[in-house]
Amino acid sequence: MVVDRVEQVLKNIEEKNDDINAILHLNPDALTQAKQVQKKIKEGKAGKLAGKTIVLKSCISVADLPVTCASKVLENHKGTFDADVVRRIKEEDGVIIGMANMDEFASGSSGENSAFGPTKNPLAPDLIPGGSSSGSAAAVAAGFCDIALGTDTGGSIRNPASHCGIVGVKPSYGRVSRYGVLDLSMSLDQVGPLAANTQDAALMMQVISGHSQNDPTTIKKPIPKVKKAGKLTIGVSEDFYKLCEDDRIVELTKQNIQEVADKTDSKIKEVKMPYVDLAIQTYYPLVYVEFFSATRKYDGRRFGKKFEEACGEETLRRVLGGNEISKAEHGGMYYRKALKAKKMIRNAVESAFKDVDVLMLPTTPMLPHKLGSKIDAKTMYAYDAFTIPANLAGCTAGVIPAGLIQDAPVGVQVMAPAFSEDVLLSVMKSAELDLTEAL
Ligand code: GLN
Repeated sequence: MVVDRVEQVLKNIEEKNDDINAILHLNPDALTQAKQVQKKIKEGKAGKLAGKTIVLKSCISVADLPVTCASKVLENHKGTFDADVVRRIKEEDGVIIGMANMDEFASGSSGENSAFGPTKNPLAPDLIPGGSSSGSAAAVAAGFCDIALGTDTGGSIRNPASHCGIVGVKPSYGRVSRYGVLDLSMSLDQVGPLAANTQDAALMMQVISGHSQNDPTTIKKPIPKVKKAGKLTIGVSEDFYKLCEDDRIVELTKQNIQEVADKTDSKIKEVKMPYVDLAIQTYYPLVYVEFFSATRKYDGRRFGKKFEEACGEETLRRVLGGNEISKAEHGGMYYRKALKAKKMIRNAVESAFKDVDVLMLPTTPMLPHKLGSKIDAKTMYAYDAFTIPANLAGCTAGVIPAGLIQDAPVGVQVMAPAFSEDVLLSVMKSAELDLTEAL
């Protein structure tokens, strides 16, 4: 029963959210909506998400719910309309439970940059849950919802999915409409699902994907049905492994890849991945400049407070940095150079996909740090070394749990060519089955 499920998650939230701090605002109409969905099920008219409870990252606009980006800048802002992804969820009868905590304006990798306090990792309470979709991942891991939406600009769905022991998918750029989603970097952002299993993530992908008149970057391409993966060529690369700071992560990843290969009767092939060591340096100038531009609307007059007066330390760094490097006197030196490097990385990824169906690699180069231990910006940025390439290449990538290292959940990452979400999800599904059998 939908009502029972909603009551259950609300009870979980009531009992545990004070501690975990994954949810910032509840939807006061969740139970009423659950009753309406229940009625539709009885009448045989319910949509694909009937019975599923949903949490949204707080940068996704929902009519009449707070959309704060976990920032003082938008502290009192309520959504005035539904983002395309929200409209689709409502049309398919998903019940929205509430709005998730996050790193302020999706800037961060640990969930510690929220103006409303950090989120705890439900599986490892001493450790960060990852970010920036920290609350979305923690909400799934803590049983506060079935599926959460996050956004991924450089890894913000995959990184917290990995640290919280759940599944996360970053769609290809252009697969999901960004209309109604507050920008971090408009040329890289994508909305995608975090869930307890691949099936739920695939279901949400079916719902939110597709062309929208509101977002000209979206294309009309249905996601083909997910088949069982078989006889694939799985690409691996020493160029990734040598950037990994923790041998245990490399070992666990390799073991996991071998299991997937055995299970699907697939080959493993070593490929060259030139320039991936430049991913972080390429990503940040793009993000700084695009974020600076996106924040100019928060001028304290129409909506929100004046950005520089109310924002946190990391977002301020980006805005000041973005302002500086986009100045005319630099002649586009940083941004334009970064665009060139982006193209090189994109070409490297695309050329690898000429030889292999998917790439498999670690999600983060290090284990999640202790919550509250002060780490510098450079170390924080390093979390995304393996996730950024998919954003720069515009392709799709997902994470599935691989196991534990010293009580920290660790996920393995799968990358597939742009608009090959069917291949991605099928490989994720096989990897997941391996794990279930191992338990
Ligand atoms: N950690 C990265 C950053 O801070 C990624 C953010 C994201 O994907 N939203 O920019």
